[in-house]
Amino acid sequence: MAVKLDGKKLSIKLANDLQADISSLKSQGIVPKLAVILVGDNQASRVYVRNKHRMAEKIGLESLDLRLSKDISEAELLEKIASLNNDSTINGILVQLPLPDQINADRITKAISPKKDVDGFHPYNLGRLFVNDPYAIPCTPNGIMYLLKSYGISVDGKNVVIVGRSKIVGRPLAALMLNQSATVTVAHSHTKNLSEITRQADVLVAAVGRANFIQAKDVKPGAIVIDVGINRNAAGKLVGDVAQTEVAPIAGYLTPVPGGVGPMTIAMLMKQTVEFAKWSKQKK
Ligand code: NDP
Repeated sequence: MAVKLDGKKLSIKLANDLQADISSLKSQGIVPKLAVILVGDNQASRVYVRNKHRMAEKIGLESLDLRLSKDISEAELLEKIASLNNDSTINGILVQLPLPDQINADRITKAISPKKDVDGFHPYNLGRLFVNDPYAIPCTPNGIMYLLKSYGISVDGKNVVIVGRSKIVGRPLAALMLNQSATVTVAHSHTKNLSEITRQADVLVAAVGRANFIQAKDVKPGAIVIDVGINRNAAGKLVGDVAQTEVAPIAGYLTPVPGGVGPMTIAMLMKQTVEFAKWSKQKK
């Protein structure tokens, strides 16, 4: 039976460590602060943003909750970001995606100062990651690497297959894995014979957004399986991309959903904000 890669437990430990870090920074007059912008009233986004503020509050990190109308223009949002870029009390800026149709998400991502880009989505930060000189690292892939490391799992020399090539998960995770000397394959909707490829994986990552997408037949016995997906099944229950009940007896390690990658993502966001606060004083 697969060993559970317990992101929930690890994120609690990480939060405790961060809390101590933040107290120590505050005693030196440094107050880490994150600004979170939510445009409109997308229900899933509201839940994600609420969870981020809750975690921030729990560890003593200041967070600014900016709620903007769904009708806001791109120019107005850019102005808001510019003012946060220039505000020296703010260390991290996050704009919750998706954005309404009148706003170009790429332009917004590029408007955030790379030094405050806690999500690590700015092309400057993605470029630095790609050349193995990272500054800000996207939180979900960073959380996956942290989770693996905490369980003593090295990806050096391993065959890693990532299903999904999004800018927020698949692509940056591929760069991180490559930086750790894994042999990386990135699969997507045009990939042929996917199951043959996934069965070669020592580490298999599913970031597709489809419930039960990875089944037992797609997994090599003993593989490390990372389930990034967050989906609702017909009964309204939160499920990942991996058919967990079938895959657990075959895999060597498996992240649960919920309680795997999700909590690590939020913990990494907090960690990145605290690091930005430290670095702002060191002029890294
Ligand atoms: P995207 O929709 O941006 O990307 C999905 C990827 O899956 C695409 O690259 C797509 O290929 C690929 N894909 C779709 N169908 C197939 C198929 N039949 N075979 C192979 N590949 C396929 O999703 P995200 O990366 O944003 O998110 C993926 C999942 O992870 C979602 O469930 C999301 O909710 C979850 N998520 C979870 C997070 C967490 O903290 N746990 C954080 C972020 C996301 P193509 O590029 O060709 O279209």
